[in-house]
Amino acid sequence: VHKSHKLGNYVLFDPGMDEEAHRRRTVERMVRTALAEDGFELFYQPIVSARQGTALGFEALIRLPDGAGGYIPPSVFIPIAEARGLIKEIGNWVLREATRQIALWPEPLFVSVNLSAVQFAEDDLLPIIEDALANAGIAGHRLEIEVVESLLLDRRDTVLRQLQDIKALGISIAMDDFGTGYSSLGYLWRFPFDKLKIDQSFMAAFNDGEPNIERILETIIAMGHHMGMKVTTEGVETREQSDVLSRLGCDQLQGYYFGKPMPADRVADTMLRNFAA
Ligand code: C2E
Ligand code: CA
Ligand code: CA
Ligand code: CA
Repeated sequence: VHKSHKLGNYVLFDPGMDEEAHRRRTVERMVRTALAEDGFELFYQPIVSARQGTALGFEALIRLPDGAGGYIPPSVFIPIAEARGLIKEIGNWVLREATRQIALWPEPLFVSVNLSAVQFAEDDLLPIIEDALANAGIAGHRLEIEVVESLLLDRRDTVLRQLQDIKALGISIAMDDFGTGYSSLGYLWRFPFDKLKIDQSFMAAFNDGEPNIERILETIIAMGHHMGMKVTTEGVETREQSDVLSRLGCDQLQGYYFGKPMPADRVADTMLRNFAA
């Protein structure tokens, strides 16, 4: 149990707390080493056309090798990197690496990059993105960025301006993990999103036989389309899910059914050739 007990002004830590602090320090050290020694890896997961089943692009997902043949998941090290002031450097590496890779793959395939809200707190995000495009020699339409709803909670005007500037480069902007946040739809629609990514928890609910799931999905997809957005569903693991989503008019699908995240050199040639025109 990782718990602290508050007694007046004193906080008594149980042994679990020490372990937790130790784990965080170990992960932080590994992140610093990976930054210094080019130790991160970038995996790519196909995003396919619901109509054709062919790849349209890839989401870039970062991996931190644990030194024993496995990986420390981003859900563990990203929050620590954010808290320790290391996410900007990681984010810059991901942008450079993802744009360099997509430049090697044919048009019109795109690469989608996750940006942390912390990266938006810096005023040089735009030039960093412009530099990445210029260094890779690619146009903005080859890049997509994914942001989560919580980004829109504070500094709304600044974030809106940043997103508009990014969009002006031809980059498309996706709202990630849609359906898990709690922002009001009223202002969500004021942001210039090109795409909604329906969170994978909806596919989990589908598997659990949640009775209204099809109607819910149908409603989100129609809402996205009414707002002029493309809709992607994440976490698609079965043929049945894929068929239902296609029938409901979802544009793009992503999940283990089509391909797990993999190193660039493992992406099959067929995925790079038979994309939908
Ligand atoms: P996310 O952006 O929602 O990414 C989707 C996650 O779902 C990925 O986990 C992916 O491996 C996993 N996934 C894909 N298809 C399936 C499926 O069919 N079933 C299931 N159960 N899972 C599936 P991953 O790679 O562990 O990444 C976790 C989170 O870490 C990401 O969630 C994102 O929030 C963050 N992340 C990953 N890479 C980066 C990065 O480069 N920068 C930042 N800031 N965050 C990142
Ligand atoms: Ca994402
Ligand atoms: Ca997501
Ligand atoms: Ca997520």
